[in-house]
Order: sequence, then C-alpha cells, then structure tokens
Amino acid sequence: MAKKNFWADGLQFQCQGSAKCCVSRGSYGYVFLTKTDRKALAKHLKMTLAEFTETHCELQDKIWKLKESSNADCIFLRDKKCGVYEGRPTQCRTWPFWPEVLNARSWRKDVVSFCPGVGKGKVWSAKEIEEQLKAQIASQNNYGT
Ligand code: SF4
Repeated sequence: MAKKNFWADGLQFQCQGSAKCCVSRGSYGYVFLTKTDRKALAKHLKMTLAEFTETHCELQDKIWKLKESSNADCIFLRDKKCGVYEGRPTQCRTWPFWPEVLNARSWRKDVVSFCPGVGKGKVWSAKEIEEQLKAQIASQNNYGT
C-alpha cells in the first residue's frame, strides 16, 4: 500500500507577515520567475515586460530570477513587507507548499523551524495543498520562458 503523505490530513498555515521567506537563506534565496510572473509584476509596477525584465531580472543558467540586492534580501522587500504583494510571483504565493519541502523531514527542518506561519490560522486541505504544489511545479517547469 502506498505510504500516506504526511500532509494527507491537511496542514495549518497562515502567513504572519514575518518576511522570513523574503530574505536569503542559502538555496532558497532566489526569486525565480516565469514569463507569467514577469508580466504580472510588470503590470503591477506599470512597466512594460521589456522594461521590467531589463530593470529587475537576470538570467541564471537560462532561468529568469529577480536581480539580487546588496544584502541578498528580495529587492521588493520594504519595511519587512512585500512591496509588490498583489503582483508577487508564483513561488511567493505557493510558499510553503513547494515540492522541495513537502516531505516530513524538510517540512520540519526548513519550514517549521523558521516560518512563524506554520500552525496558525487556515487549515489547508490535502486538495488545496495539492493545487498549490501543482502550481509551483508548473512554475518551476517554466522558469526559462
Ligand atoms: S516578491 Fe514579495 S513575497 Fe516574494 S520574496 Fe520578494 S518581498 Fe517576498
């Protein structure tokens, strides 16, 4: 019998606005972008896609990401809040339901230990978590577009 996902009965998470996921922490320090993400951010900032890409993005191994700030925090972080919240990219919307951390060990090590949103507010059903997970995986498959 297939092993049950540790999140099969749902997970409780609600963003507490700590901005801890918006500052660099090793491998999770980059904000990767699909073309849809770049378009949404450009629209939010009232820029053309070309202007936004030229000003705020760079290619790394054929993958688009936000340029880095001098202190490695996200360039859109303002007073510990997202300065582009309505237009924020998929990886920010789907956190913490990423394929890299949706296993019991990584969830404990990389999410529970540092994100104050875990165990607060909304209980996400397995179906909702799966939707977030799918959106994030689709996004990861389109970073180069
Ligand atoms: S775009 Fe907003 S939510 Fe995403 S890392 Fe930057 S400040 Fe945080």
